[in-house]
Amino acid sequence: MVRFKDKIVVVTGGCRGIGKAIVEAFLNEGAFVYAWDYKLPEEGEVFIEDELLRQRVRTIQVDVSLFDSVNNAAQKVLEESGKVDILVNNAGITRDNLLLRMSESDWDAVINTNLRGAFLCTKALLRPMMNQRWGRIINISSIVGEIGNAGQANYSASKAGLIGFTKSLAKELASRNILVNAIAPGYVRTNMTDKLTPEQKEMFLKNIPLHREAEPEDIAKVVLFLASDDASYITGQVINVDGGLVM
Ligand code: NDP
Repeated sequence: MVRFKDKIVVVTGGCRGIGKAIVEAFLNEGAFVYAWDYKLPEEGEVFIEDELLRQRVRTIQVDVSLFDSVNNAAQKVLEESGKVDILVNNAGITRDNLLLRMSESDWDAVINTNLRGAFLCTKALLRPMMNQRWGRIINISSIVGEIGNAGQANYSASKAGLIGFTKSLAKELASRNILVNAIAPGYVRTNMTDKLTPEQKEMFLKNIPLHREAEPEDIAKVVLFLASDDASYITGQVINVDGGLVM
């Protein structure tokens, strides 16, 4: 299936984990993709294996929490491609701690990357979507934004914030045919969850009805569905992709 031929896609945090799986999925379906990331692939590291697909991807170094960095990247995309059709706000970090031990800098870093980042990237790329009266914005939230998690007050607040952001924008932009949705993954196998202890991983798996963690591709498939014409009557929704963990 080639559902995204001629579409220009920006994926933040696109060089690793879930973001990279989203980039690869869009490339496989014909899109031209910009992977924005804090750290770009190392010199000599092959980012996308397939040579043909590699011709349709650009990496741009961006810190999504910084206004100038985001605006410079947006300018590069618009100068080169003249438009943007799909934005996936995926970049995210954790700085876990119980609240009494959580430093101000850990609070700020998580809110600035996960929530302010989505605000800055969306604002920087919104006008061309509005002008062409077509756009898709997909925000990667988390189930902990819905149910909370001890030790993740900063992260849960940022992810809950993304849900409010999604719904408000969905209302604001529907008349311009810009659909805004969020995905709430559960436990996905990436660098982020590598940090969990074996006991924490066991606890998650025990409570997941499907008894497995998600692969990044499980999330990417839902991103592509929401960006596709099959989802043209869906906006302002949060889709849980969590093996049934939250229901
Ligand atoms: P990874 O840590 O593997 O990837 C996150 C990506 O975001 C990295 O490429 C990272 O860059 C990038 N990033 C971090 N900070 C910035 C920044 N300031 N500017 C630009 N890019 C940045 O995590 P995942 O792939 O697991 O997570 C992707 C998204 O999915 C996140 O929003 C996360 O919260 C969410 N999620 C993940 C779950 C999971 O179980 N893994 C569950 C629920 C939600 P670098 O490595 O260079 O720092």
